[in-house]
Amino acid sequence: SSMEHLLSERIKSTPPSFIRSILKTAADPQIISFAGGLPNPVSFPQEELLVSMERIVRDYGSSLFQYSITAGLPELRQYIADRYNRRFGLKLGIENILITTGSQQALDLISKVLLNTGDGVIVEKPSYLGAIQAFSQYQPVFYPVELTEEGMDIEQLKDALKHDVKFIYAIPDFQNPTGLSYCAENRACIREVLREREIVLVEDDPYGELRFDGGGRIPYIGAGQLPGSILLGTFSKTVTPGMRTGFMICADTELLKHISVAKEASDLHTNIFSQYLIWDYLMHNDYDAHIDQIRQLYKEQAQAMTEAMDRYFPETVRYTRPRGGMFLWVTLPEGVSALSLFPKALEKKVAFVPGDPFYINMTDTNTMRLNFTNADCSMIDEGIRRLGELLREI
Ligand code: PMP
Repeated sequence: SSMEHLLSERIKSTPPSFIRSILKTAADPQIISFAGGLPNPVSFPQEELLVSMERIVRDYGSSLFQYSITAGLPELRQYIADRYNRRFGLKLGIENILITTGSQQALDLISKVLLNTGDGVIVEKPSYLGAIQAFSQYQPVFYPVELTEEGMDIEQLKDALKHDVKFIYAIPDFQNPTGLSYCAENRACIREVLREREIVLVEDDPYGELRFDGGGRIPYIGAGQLPGSILLGTFSKTVTPGMRTGFMICADTELLKHISVAKEASDLHTNIFSQYLIWDYLMHNDYDAHIDQIRQLYKEQAQAMTEAMDRYFPETVRYTRPRGGMFLWVTLPEGVSALSLFPKALEKKVAFVPGDPFYINMTDTNTMRLNFTNADCSMIDEGIRRLGELLREI
């Protein structure tokens, strides 16, 4: 438009959201979409949330509708501290927790607080596109480090650390987009590499609870171990994304104060009604039993997808077999552009996300992300059959 010359360098260097156009295609009911990142709506505890809504309005009245404090509802922060202390042997108090408007806001605030133009950020290759977008606003230099079946490529990480880097962004459990997780050895290696360095490690963990087989968690890389580390969590994938309630955990209360100032400038505080609602839900329901149900559901959906791929995809196509989370990652033969297949897939009424937006400055990559949580098992089978037809033509 004619306003172009008024735009900031900041927004001009921020890639437009692929997510938005994806959500648009997913809205066509004819299309079997593996493109979105949506939790399955049957996982939202709507009846229980309705009960909580009535209870909090009755019991807390005007506090739900008034301005509140930037750090977030103390009762909710206490719940989060207790849960992480219990599950991971951390020693958190409420001063270590900041409630955020989804973990997406945390990504924005962290980069706002740490990055000057040209500062280095280490990301996984590939990485979460929403994080790449958030960081890009502050015009950093990205240093992508290959993500392998074990975790980050340690040699590449060491090389990247030779540059002037402010923070490392990692998704150690059931990563978006690949579904891969870091093994215990890889986490230990990264911890050792970072131990003597003044650098922030951001561990983003929206999917860790969604381990299909339940059971024990591998310790985090930084949380409880590296003083300059930040852990992100969210209720988006286990309760509801629409309430936009996430949280940041940090042992370094000084750093958290700076982030809190940035949050205050940005939105004063996260929606307090949402915070009460989530807290009341957690206090009056068996949260772990609810998570177990989601795990079971996603396990079946993931299995339906990989079994269909085993059946319909040509031998030359590889894919991850996630043990949790919401996504898997497909690698096509060398030189095949997933982006160029996208319109042909839409003709067959099936959608995926081409890998490109998950990389820094790469086009026509031979990868794609598939979401398995938002279609039922028979639709998954049919969608993968259609994709298989397409892949056999390449
Ligand atoms: N981080 C990752 C890795 C994600 O996949 C997502 C959601 N797609 C987010 C952060 C943002 O989640 P929310 O803001 O809903 O907590």
